[in-house]
Amino acid sequence: MTERLYYTDSFLYDFEAEVAEVLPGERTALVLDRTAFYPTSGGQVFDTGSLRANGSEFRVTEVAEDESGKILHYMEAPAAALKAGQKVSGAIDAARRRDHMQQHSGQHVLSAAFIELFEMPTVSFHMGEESCTIDLNAKAVSTDQIVKAESRANQIVSENRPVRVRFVSVDEARTLGLRKLPELQKDEMRLVEIKDFDLCACGGTHVAHTSQIGPILLRKTEKVKQGIRVEFVCGDRALRTARKDYATLTESAGLFSGHIYDVPPQVRKLLEEGKAAQKRQHALLEEIAELCAAELVARMPETGKFRVVQKVFADRDLTFIKLLAQKLTRYPGLVVLLGSIVTPAAVVFARSADVEADVSAFMKQAMAAVGGRGGGSKELAQGGVPDATRVASLLDEIAAQAHS
Ligand SMILES: [Zn+2]
Repeated sequence: MTERLYYTDSFLYDFEAEVAEVLPGERTALVLDRTAFYPTSGGQVFDTGSLRANGSEFRVTEVAEDESGKILHYMEAPAAALKAGQKVSGAIDAARRRDHMQQHSGQHVLSAAFIELFEMPTVSFHMGEESCTIDLNAKAVSTDQIVKAESRANQIVSENRPVRVRFVSVDEARTLGLRKLPELQKDEMRLVEIKDFDLCACGGTHVAHTSQIGPILLRKTEKVKQGIRVEFVCGDRALRTARKDYATLTESAGLFSGHIYDVPPQVRKLLEEGKAAQKRQHALLEEIAELCAAELVARMPETGKFRVVQKVFADRDLTFIKLLAQKLTRYPGLVVLLGSIVTPAAVVFARSADVEADVSAFMKQAMAAVGGRGGGSKELAQGGVPDATRVASLLDEIAAQAHS
């Protein structure tokens, strides 16, 4: 079994080991007799780094634990380059490890704060590339509770409490009042203790003192199946996130030439103005359609049992020609054939209530002719025309059809 060096020293970044096993496959995997590489488990993600052997250096791109408890180091190396019994020097990416320690220890502090203040236990922990989350067994979490938990967690950080790792028997662990007992209980349990604040069974890598966590910043909350998900970031991530938030707000405020705190009322005002403008525009379009319809009808010669209004618009879209068709069919005795070559090009066919024609049949025929999609009722139908240059001739063809 591989000796897990990270169990007793989270700050060990360089180590010597011997290759125990080489597993060929899609990616070469190595098992070592001892390792400082942390495999993904307990919500914490794996370390990366390198292994040096015989003067060559190979990248360790992922570390995982298999069901039997073997720690697999996935290598960017051909299997033939490595042999069992070979001596290797390992180096883990220290910055990545430090980040993981900040997030994971921060999570313990935060989870304990939610218990202490609101008796909300953490049921799961996830460490992502950008941010981390815990799921709280709770029906709801208020903004006030978020602020209080964040404040308490940061207080624990600033008190610089020692974080200690120790190993106890399962029986002893049961008497200690752990925040969380793991489902899988081995003979010996590894406990992580934040002095006079939290005691928890955990296999992760942790800081030595809470001040090394750095700031703990709580972000959004959302309802999930098992409770409330709380997003958070710790340490350098918290700083980076706060910096990014500030840059985003500053850019937004710059658009209004205002202060960042004025962004919400400014956005609200813009949205209201946008809505009002849309309403005005709609009213104007109605008016234009009405006038346009009257003008088209006035110009029609009085012949036959019905008259065909046919027109292609180069500057009006489907919404408008549909509106115009509705206005036109309020006049008696009309078959309306309108087209728009504004992308995406479209046609609208309609008829007055006193005309017998079925415009959906015209539309079906038109769509078959141009390879478009459309449909509607006997009174009003619309369809898309893939090739805008076909709109005018299409209306001619349908007009000839309507007259026959
Ligand atoms: Zn943990």
